[in-house]
Formats: sequence, structure tokens, C-alpha cells
Amino acid sequence: MSDPAPPRPLPAAPVALPDITARCTGCGRCVGACPPHVLCLEPRGWEKSALLHDRAGCTGCGRCAVVCPFGAIRMRRTDR
Ligand code: SF4
Ligand code: SF4
Repeated sequence: MSDPAPPRPLPAAPVALPDITARCTGCGRCVGACPPHVLCLEPRGWEKSALLHDRAGCTGCGRCAVVCPFGAIRMRRTDR
């Protein structure tokens, strides 16, 4: 009897990642709400804006988009 074929790797599941738009005021609420801490604030001239600094670490949970008081984050599907 021949050995069974090795299991094929599953395709990467599409995940939604936050798209931070120009409406961001740099309030930092999303940074504090992100469980894996993959968001930070980056300076933009005299202002600050949220930045996803670790795409691979984002779970796509959407908490950042929910807590943003300015509707500045849209979750977009991606294949990473
Ligand atoms: S909560 Fe919204 S406005 Fe505040 S830093 Fe995050 S994206 Fe920007
Ligand atoms: S979707 Fe979740 S894990 Fe990803 S940046 Fe937003 S809060 Fe963090």
C-alpha cells in the first residue's frame, strides 16, 4: 500500500485590514483599542495620524474601526 499524499497547504484566508483615511485626527483611540498593538501614531507635519505598522500581526478584528469617533478607518478585504 502506498503512502497517502501529503496534505496540501490551505490557501491563506482573506482577511480585512484597516484602511486609515485622511479623516484621522490622531486622537489615538484606535491605538489603545488594538489587542495585538499593531497600530501606532506617526507624525505628519505638525499633526499625527494612525499607522498600521505590522500588517502581518493584524487579526482583522475591526475594533479599531469600531472605536474611531471620526469614522476614519474602513476595513478592506485583502489576501495579505
Ligand atoms: S481612532 Fe480614528 S481618528 Fe483616532 S487615531 Fe485612530 S483612526 Fe485616527
Ligand atoms: S483590525 Fe484589530 S488587530 Fe487589526 S489594527 Fe484594527 S484593532 Fe488592531
